[in-house]
Amino acid sequence: MKDFDYIIIGGGCAGLSLAYELDAHKKLESKTLAIIELRNEYKRDKTWSFWKIIPHNFDDCVKKSWSNFSINIPNKTQHLECKTFPYQSIDSGLFYEKINKKLKENKNISFYKNINEINSENSFIFNSVPKLDMNKNSLWQHFYGIEIETKKNFFDDEIMNLMDFDCEQRESVHFFYTLPYSKNKALIETTWLSTMHDDSEKDYDNQIKDYIENHLNLKEYKITYKEVGAIPLFYPSNEREKNKINIGTAGNMTRLSTGYTFLNIQEQCKFIRENIENISKTKIFEIEKKYQFLDNIFLKVIKKNPKIMPKIFFKMFTSSPSTVIKFLSNKSNFFEDFSIILKMPKWIFIKALFRN
Ligand SMILES: Cc1cc2nc3c(=O)[nH]c(=O)nc-3n(C[C@H](O)[C@H](O)[C@H](O)COP(=O)(O)OP(=O)(O)OC[C@H]3O[C@@H](n4cnc5c(N)ncnc54)[C@H](O)[C@@H]3O)c2cc1C
Repeated sequence: MKDFDYIIIGGGCAGLSLAYELDAHKKLESKTLAIIELRNEYKRDKTWSFWKIIPHNFDDCVKKSWSNFSINIPNKTQHLECKTFPYQSIDSGLFYEKINKKLKENKNISFYKNINEINSENSFIFNSVPKLDMNKNSLWQHFYGIEIETKKNFFDDEIMNLMDFDCEQRESVHFFYTLPYSKNKALIETTWLSTMHDDSEKDYDNQIKDYIENHLNLKEYKITYKEVGAIPLFYPSNEREKNKINIGTAGNMTRLSTGYTFLNIQEQCKFIRENIENISKTKIFEIEKKYQFLDNIFLKVIKKNPKIMPKIFFKMFTSSPSTVIKFLSNKSNFFEDFSIILKMPKWIFIKALFRN
């Protein structure tokens, strides 16, 4: 069986981003890499969106960038600007195609379906397959989105709607999310923050149909794409092992209060590439501890007081948009953190801090 210097388990967002980063920086000219991926073919399956707060390798896979966004609760809307940190959406289909095309040109990179097909004893492993313990109290961000096309122009494609809380909340936190790619094309998602016990939350088709037809008042449209997913708002239980680093979701790259992961993955890949020559002795790349601490409190508030969350999110955005964006993208300084914390209902957060 063949030996490799490096093995990446899981050729999804993190696995392929890392392979691309290593290849693009010529770290695989005298080293070999095996990518282990279960899927038979790559199809567009996700839309990765984020505020572009740092550079990344995939500007050519961006479907659309917005410099304006809105957030609303019943009877109140805020229109906000994000010119400095535009909100971008990456089409996973373009991302997979770009990376796979590039990697196939490198004879030092091989693709397998199962790690048992190679000898992994002497390799350094990057694992992106998360071990998710199904604890009944764990929170998830679960969602379902459809891309629609209309005959007549309908959307304002200059502004995306980050969160529309003007909808049924039940005992969870629920919002709609609209990304208008053009005047007659948009991705509309129904998103829940919950433990996923209430199956009626998963009646996604009806929720979206009702939102589009009765809330947006759009009656004629064609569905062109569907996407469904659930992001764990808890850390997977992948262990740290010698000669192995967990990457992506498995490597705790998800920001637990928001589900944003894509740019954290890009930063983790850059960090690994910069340290690849000495990787077995390099420290683990982590989201800063202060965010882990604050997100933990935030999640406790979501669990205990879901009803107040729409107002909390809305209030958070009354800080300057750059401050909130930097905070949500793990790039805020002490003063920016403090200005966000000041917007929170103090007593509820203090109680959450001391709750197990
Ligand atoms: C539908 C969806 C939309 C999302 N949207 C956003 C967003 O807008 N912004 C954002 O920041 N984050 C978003 N996320 C969160 C996060 O960015 C993605 O989940 C991202 O794909 C995580 O990358 P990953 O490499 O850790 O996992 P994945 O991309 O899921 O990659 C894991 C890979 O491992 C493979 N695999 C699984 N088991 C095995 C095995 N035993 N052996 C070999 N291979 C295996 C899988 O086939 C997959 O290709 C979204 C998540 C989902 C599910």
